[in-house]
Amino acid sequence: MKRALPPDPHHPARPPRIALLGESIVDETATAILAEAVLGGPFERVQPNLRARGWPSVLQILPAIARHLHFHTDADGLIVLVDADDSEPHTAAHEAPGYFHPRCRLCQLRATFRRATKTLPPARGRERVLRAVGLAVPAAEAWYLCGLDETVGEAGWIEARAEGRVPYTRRELKLRVYGTERPTLPLALERATAAARRHARDLRRLENDFPGFAAMADELRSWPRALALRSPRESASG
Ligand SMILES: [Zn+2]
Repeated sequence: MKRALPPDPHHPARPPRIALLGESIVDETATAILAEAVLGGPFERVQPNLRARGWPSVLQILPAIARHLHFHTDADGLIVLVDADDSEPHTAAHEAPGYFHPRCRLCQLRATFRRATKTLPPARGRERVLRAVGLAVPAAEAWYLCGLDETVGEAGWIEARAEGRVPYTRRELKLRVYGTERPTLPLALERATAAARRHARDLRRLENDFPGFAAMADELRSWPRALALRSPRESASG
Protein backbone atom coordinates (compact mmCIF):
# COMPACT_ATOMS: atom_id res chain seq x y z
CA MET A 1 0.00 0.00 0.00
CA LYS A 2 1.51 3.29 -1.11
CA ARG A 3 0.48 6.18 1.07
CA ALA A 4 2.87 8.90 -0.03
CA LEU A 5 1.67 12.47 0.18
CA PRO A 6 0.81 14.08 -3.18
CA PRO A 7 3.72 15.99 -4.71
CA ASP A 8 4.07 19.53 -3.41
CA PRO A 9 4.59 22.02 -6.30
CA HIS A 10 6.68 24.28 -4.02
CA HIS A 11 9.08 21.49 -3.14
CA PRO A 12 10.10 19.49 -6.16
CA ALA A 13 10.40 15.90 -5.07
CA ARG A 14 13.79 14.72 -4.03
CA PRO A 15 14.21 11.45 -2.23
CA PRO A 16 14.62 11.82 1.54
CA ARG A 17 18.08 11.09 2.92
CA ILE A 18 17.91 8.48 5.64
CA ALA A 19 20.37 6.75 7.95
CA LEU A 20 19.64 3.33 9.42
CA LEU A 21 20.87 1.91 12.68
CA GLY A 22 20.14 -1.71 13.53
CA GLU A 23 21.69 -4.59 15.39
CA SER A 24 22.98 -6.16 12.18
CA ILE A 25 23.38 -5.52 8.49
CA VAL A 26 20.58 -8.06 7.91
CA ASP A 27 18.09 -6.12 10.03
CA GLU A 28 19.14 -2.85 8.38
CA THR A 29 18.60 -4.31 4.91
CA ALA A 30 15.09 -5.50 5.76
CA THR A 31 14.27 -2.22 7.53
CA ALA A 32 15.31 -0.22 4.46
CA ILE A 33 12.83 -2.19 2.30
CA LEU A 34 10.03 -1.76 4.85
CA ALA A 35 10.76 1.96 5.27
CA GLU A 36 10.63 2.48 1.52
CA ALA A 37 7.24 0.79 1.44
CA VAL A 38 5.94 2.97 4.28
CA LEU A 39 7.26 6.18 2.69
CA GLY A 40 5.88 5.18 -0.70
CA GLY A 41 9.11 5.75 -2.60
CA PRO A 42 12.86 5.30 -2.62
CA PHE A 43 15.24 7.14 -0.35
CA GLU A 44 18.91 7.92 -0.36
CA ARG A 45 20.95 6.04 2.23
CA VAL A 46 23.20 8.05 4.53
CA GLN A 47 25.91 6.06 6.29
CA PRO A 48 26.20 6.66 10.03
CA ASN A 49 29.72 7.20 11.40
CA LEU A 50 29.53 4.15 13.66
CA ARG A 51 28.08 0.64 13.44
CA ALA A 52 26.33 -1.20 16.21
CA ARG A 53 26.33 -4.92 16.73
CA GLY A 54 23.54 -5.89 19.03
CA TRP A 55 21.89 -4.28 22.02
CA PRO A 56 23.10 -2.37 24.10
CA SER A 57 25.63 -1.14 21.54
CA VAL A 58 22.80 0.55 19.59
CA LEU A 59 21.75 2.50 22.67
CA GLN A 60 25.35 3.42 23.55
CA ILE A 61 26.30 4.85 20.15
CA LEU A 62 22.95 6.50 19.38
CA PRO A 63 23.85 9.93 20.87
CA ALA A 64 27.10 10.10 18.87
CA ILE A 65 25.31 9.06 15.67
CA ALA A 66 22.52 11.59 16.21
CA ARG A 67 25.08 14.41 16.65
CA HIS A 68 27.14 13.24 13.66
CA LEU A 69 24.11 13.11 11.36
CA HIS A 70 22.95 16.52 12.57
CA PHE A 71 26.22 18.39 12.08
CA HIS A 72 28.15 16.45 9.45
CA THR A 73 25.58 15.00 7.04
CA ASP A 74 22.48 16.12 5.13
CA ALA A 75 20.41 13.28 6.63
CA ASP A 76 16.72 14.08 6.95
CA GLY A 77 16.00 11.23 9.32
CA LEU A 78 17.33 8.31 11.30
CA ILE A 79 15.60 4.94 11.60
CA VAL A 80 16.56 2.73 14.54
CA LEU A 81 15.49 -0.88 14.89
CA VAL A 82 16.30 -3.22 17.79
CA ASP A 83 15.12 -6.60 19.04
CA ALA A 84 13.17 -6.67 22.30
CA ASP A 85 14.67 -10.03 23.38
CA ASP A 86 13.23 -10.52 26.88
CA SER A 87 12.61 -6.83 27.55
CA GLU A 88 9.26 -5.07 27.80
CA PRO A 89 7.28 -4.79 24.53
CA HIS A 90 6.18 -1.25 23.63
CA THR A 91 2.41 -0.83 24.12
CA ALA A 92 -0.17 1.89 23.50
CA ALA A 93 0.11 2.87 27.19
CA HIS A 94 3.71 3.97 26.56
CA GLU A 95 2.49 6.50 23.99
CA ALA A 96 0.81 8.69 26.64
CA PRO A 97 2.37 12.19 26.67
CA GLY A 98 5.36 12.37 28.99
CA TYR A 99 5.25 8.62 29.71
CA PHE A 100 8.39 6.56 29.51
CA HIS A 101 8.83 2.88 30.34
CA PRO A 102 12.36 2.33 31.67
CA ARG A 103 12.47 -1.33 30.58
CA CYS A 104 11.07 -0.75 27.08
CA ARG A 105 13.87 -0.40 24.54
CA LEU A 106 11.74 1.65 22.17
CA CYS A 107 10.99 4.17 24.95
CA GLN A 108 14.68 4.15 25.94
CA LEU A 109 15.84 4.83 22.39
CA ARG A 110 13.33 7.63 21.87
CA ALA A 111 14.35 9.28 25.15
CA THR A 112 18.06 8.91 24.39
CA PHE A 113 17.62 10.44 20.93
CA ARG A 114 15.58 13.31 22.41
CA ARG A 115 18.21 14.03 25.09
CA ALA A 116 21.02 13.89 22.53
CA THR A 117 19.36 16.29 20.08
CA LYS A 118 17.06 18.69 21.95
CA THR A 119 19.69 21.34 22.66
CA LEU A 120 21.52 21.14 19.32
CA PRO A 121 21.48 24.38 17.31
CA PRO A 122 20.09 24.25 13.76
CA ALA A 123 22.66 22.89 11.33
CA ARG A 124 22.98 22.37 7.59
CA GLY A 125 19.75 24.20 6.88
CA ARG A 126 17.45 22.28 9.20
CA GLU A 127 16.30 22.35 12.79
CA ARG A 128 16.71 18.67 13.51
CA VAL A 129 17.05 15.16 12.14
CA LEU A 130 13.76 13.26 12.19
CA ARG A 131 13.51 9.98 14.07
CA ALA A 132 11.68 6.66 13.76
CA VAL A 133 12.23 3.78 16.18
CA GLY A 134 11.04 0.20 15.78
CA LEU A 135 11.06 -2.69 18.24
CA ALA A 136 10.97 -6.27 16.95
CA VAL A 137 9.29 -8.52 19.54
CA PRO A 138 11.13 -10.61 20.45
CA ALA A 139 13.39 -10.44 17.37
CA ALA A 140 13.36 -9.39 13.73
CA GLU A 141 12.85 -13.04 12.70
CA ALA A 142 9.31 -12.80 14.12
CA TRP A 143 8.57 -10.07 11.56
CA TYR A 144 9.96 -12.30 8.82
CA LEU A 145 7.57 -15.09 9.87
CA CYS A 146 4.56 -12.79 10.20
CA GLY A 147 1.74 -13.98 7.95
CA LEU A 148 3.36 -17.39 7.40
CA ASP A 149 3.40 -18.74 10.96
CA GLU A 150 0.13 -18.18 12.81
CA THR A 151 1.71 -18.81 16.22
CA VAL A 152 3.99 -15.76 15.90
CA GLY A 153 2.75 -12.31 16.96
CA GLU A 154 3.20 -9.68 19.61
CA ALA A 155 -0.17 -10.19 21.33
CA GLY A 156 0.49 -13.90 21.85
CA TRP A 157 4.02 -13.15 23.03
CA ILE A 158 2.75 -10.64 25.64
CA GLU A 159 -0.01 -12.98 26.78
CA ALA A 160 2.45 -15.83 27.24
CA ARG A 161 4.88 -13.59 29.14
CA ALA A 162 2.08 -12.60 31.52
CA GLU A 163 1.53 -16.30 32.22
CA GLY A 164 5.24 -16.92 32.68
CA ARG A 165 5.51 -18.93 29.45
CA VAL A 166 7.90 -18.57 26.55
CA PRO A 167 5.88 -19.46 23.40
CA TYR A 168 9.00 -19.62 21.21
CA THR A 169 12.64 -18.83 21.69
CA ARG A 170 14.79 -16.66 19.45
CA ARG A 171 16.65 -19.81 18.42
CA GLU A 172 13.39 -21.42 17.31
CA LEU A 173 12.51 -18.31 15.29
CA LYS A 174 15.90 -18.45 13.57
CA LEU A 175 15.43 -22.13 12.80
CA ARG A 176 12.02 -21.45 11.26
CA VAL A 177 13.29 -18.54 9.13
CA TYR A 178 16.72 -19.82 8.08
CA GLY A 179 16.52 -23.57 8.64
CA THR A 180 19.52 -23.17 10.94
CA GLU A 181 20.31 -21.26 14.13
CA ARG A 182 23.52 -19.92 12.60
CA PRO A 183 22.77 -18.80 9.05
CA THR A 184 25.54 -17.50 6.83
CA LEU A 185 25.31 -13.80 6.00
CA PRO A 186 24.14 -14.41 2.40
CA LEU A 187 21.41 -16.80 3.56
CA ALA A 188 20.25 -14.42 6.29
CA LEU A 189 20.19 -11.50 3.83
CA GLU A 190 18.27 -13.55 1.26
CA ARG A 191 15.54 -14.64 3.71
CA ALA A 192 15.22 -11.24 5.40
CA THR A 193 15.01 -9.47 2.04
CA ALA A 194 12.37 -11.88 0.73
CA ALA A 195 10.28 -11.42 3.88
CA ALA A 196 10.58 -7.63 3.79
CA ARG A 197 9.57 -7.55 0.11
CA ARG A 198 6.55 -9.74 0.89
CA HIS A 199 5.45 -7.27 3.61
CA ALA A 200 6.26 -4.28 1.41
CA ARG A 201 3.51 -5.36 -1.00
CA ASP A 202 0.97 -5.04 1.83
CA LEU A 203 2.08 -3.81 5.24
CA ARG A 204 -1.23 -4.29 7.02
CA ARG A 205 -0.59 -7.70 8.53
CA LEU A 206 2.81 -6.71 9.92
CA GLU A 207 1.40 -3.46 11.32
CA ASN A 208 -1.52 -5.28 12.89
CA ASP A 209 0.42 -8.15 14.45
CA PHE A 210 3.51 -6.16 15.46
CA PRO A 211 2.81 -2.82 17.20
CA GLY A 212 6.60 -2.40 17.49
CA PHE A 213 6.62 -2.10 13.69
CA ALA A 214 3.46 0.05 13.61
CA ALA A 215 5.13 2.56 15.96
CA MET A 216 8.03 2.93 13.53
CA ALA A 217 5.69 3.17 10.54
CA ASP A 218 3.62 5.90 12.24
CA GLU A 219 6.73 7.98 12.88
CA LEU A 220 7.88 7.48 9.28
CA ARG A 221 4.50 8.57 7.91
CA SER A 222 4.87 11.90 9.71
CA TRP A 223 8.15 12.59 7.89
CA PRO A 224 6.93 13.76 4.45
CA ARG A 225 4.83 16.45 6.11
CA ALA A 226 7.66 17.50 8.44
CA LEU A 227 10.06 17.67 5.47
CA ALA A 228 7.59 19.64 3.35
CA LEU A 229 7.16 22.15 6.20
CA ARG A 230 10.84 22.99 6.13
CA SER A 231 11.33 26.42 4.62
CA PRO A 232 12.12 26.59 0.89
CA ARG A 233 15.53 28.05 1.74
CA GLU A 234 16.22 25.08 4.01
CA SER A 235 15.15 22.63 1.33
CA ALA A 236 17.22 24.39 -1.31
CA SER A 237 20.33 24.39 0.84
CA GLY A 238 20.19 20.64 1.31
ZN1 LIG B 1 7.72 1.76 25.22
